[in-house]
Amino acid sequence: MRSISIFGATGSIGQSTFDLIRRAGGAEAYRTVALTGARNVALLAEMARELRAEVAVTAHEEELPALRAALAGSGVEAAAGAEAIAEAADRPADWVMSGIVGAAGLVPGLRALRHGGILALANKESLVTAGPLLLATAKAHGATILPVDSEHSAVFQALTGEDAGAVERVIITASGGPFRTWPLEKLARATVAEAKAHPNWSMGSRISIDSASMFNKALELIETREFFGFAPEMIEVLVHPQSIVHALVGFRDGGVMAHLGPADMRHAIGFALHWPERGHVPVERLDLARLGSLSFEAPDAERFPALRLAREVMEIRGLSGAAFNAAKEVALDYFMSGRLGFLGMASVVEETLAVLSAETGLRNAPTGLEEVLAMDRHARVRAAECAAARREV
Ligand code: NAD
Ligand code: MG
Repeated sequence: MRSISIFGATGSIGQSTFDLIRRAGGAEAYRTVALTGARNVALLAEMARELRAEVAVTAHEEELPALRAALAGSGVEAAAGAEAIAEAADRPADWVMSGIVGAAGLVPGLRALRHGGILALANKESLVTAGPLLLATAKAHGATILPVDSEHSAVFQALTGEDAGAVERVIITASGGPFRTWPLEKLARATVAEAKAHPNWSMGSRISIDSASMFNKALELIETREFFGFAPEMIEVLVHPQSIVHALVGFRDGGVMAHLGPADMRHAIGFALHWPERGHVPVERLDLARLGSLSFEAPDAERFPALRLAREVMEIRGLSGAAFNAAKEVALDYFMSGRLGFLGMASVVEETLAVLSAETGLRNAPTGLEEVLAMDRHARVRAAECAAARREV
């Protein structure tokens, strides 16, 4: 029986993964090793009972008594804290979903790769923060990373059977989010509720707001560069409000392979779950005649400066991805708690990168995980200072 673990099981990606596992036979078809979550311990315990998991882990120590109580008599072990999540990743599993949000997903992903199985990677922040380290760890242990971000799964699928050396360009699409047509003056006053309301995808609140600011697409540009190794100038963003075409790969003979599908993450997760085979995945089938038309437009770099900042990171590499992601996470926290305006997020990230660049230089490749984590911590301190100094709201 194939063994699985789901990190971030209670989130949007985790729930979609759970849905697919359950439909494929649940505990009768898969042996579940670990499920992890954060505050939603009731849901975590319910899933762990249903899949008869070995261990359920909450990120928060103070939630451990509630998790234990919810698991009483089930035979599922309970644990808590960041180290317990990393230890859960030390338990071998054939297929692991990396579905934690933020840089917190990095260490569990790295630890899971040491078993040489498959890491289904939704956590784009780990590639942005420490792409070379992640790929080197996978290589050293014979593990496979399968991208689960819809655009990257699409590129991966379009490249299957092709010669990567014949690729001329890679285009990842962006819906444009809820503010695609908003003028700058209106963007400055955008609220958290407005930013969370993604027109096409149902996702966690952090990635939804990142989609509105295009920081999600910025992370995805870096993710494309790091995962597939294409030069920055080969990678483009195309705004496509219907979110049907997820990515396009252009070859040197002028041919372009596009990947289409419904805006449902279960396609990309299901692809990774059944890979290298194509299993049945219960997503809605495309009906292009009903859709009638698909539209495309160039992204607006002035209203969405995150894309320009990502380009800098793609060129600099080194520790700049770790700094960029950490600063973005802090800026997002400030926006979500009403202490920073919507446009202030990009300003904080830009200022933080400038400060860190002057202070430490961001170009040197990290020697290992410790250096990446040290930059992550340091960038959070500097970003908080930049955000606090703005006093925007
Ligand atoms: P979410 O907020 O819905 O869920 C996040 C999960 O991580 C939850 O299980 C939560 O308990 C857990 N978590 C949060 N903070 C944690 C911490 N500090 N330590 C350990 N666990 C923690 O997020 P999501 O939308 O499911 O996104 C998860 C990841 O997948 C993100 O990296 C996101 O960018 C990526 N992704 C999501 C989608 C999507 O459609 N939701 C699409 C593409 C990529
Ligand atoms: Mg995506």
